[in-house]
Amino acid sequence: MNDFPRFYEACKARDYLQCLPRSDAVQIFRARAKHTLLLADRARHGWSATTACRLCGEREETIKHVLSECREMVGDRPSGWPAKPMNEILW
Ligand SMILES: [Zn+2]
Repeated sequence: MNDFPRFYEACKARDYLQCLPRSDAVQIFRARAKHTLLLADRARHGWSATTACRLCGEREETIKHVLSECREMVGDRPSGWPAKPMNEILW
């Protein structure tokens, strides 16, 4: 049985995070709170000496850079990925 219509309706009626697996929802909460394992967040806590992106090395490794800017992630982004501010993507 195809559960997609039921899930889709549930997502429209409630916070969409409740429709995600717990592990995915946790990652979104961490991104919102800037408590990720990205180097910019780790450096803020003194856990990393560098903030340079580990993929391209060109910019600071932030959630915005990895999700929207990093050239090494281009192939992993869905086509038409929105170039919106992070607060509109994460919230
Ligand atoms: Zn990068």
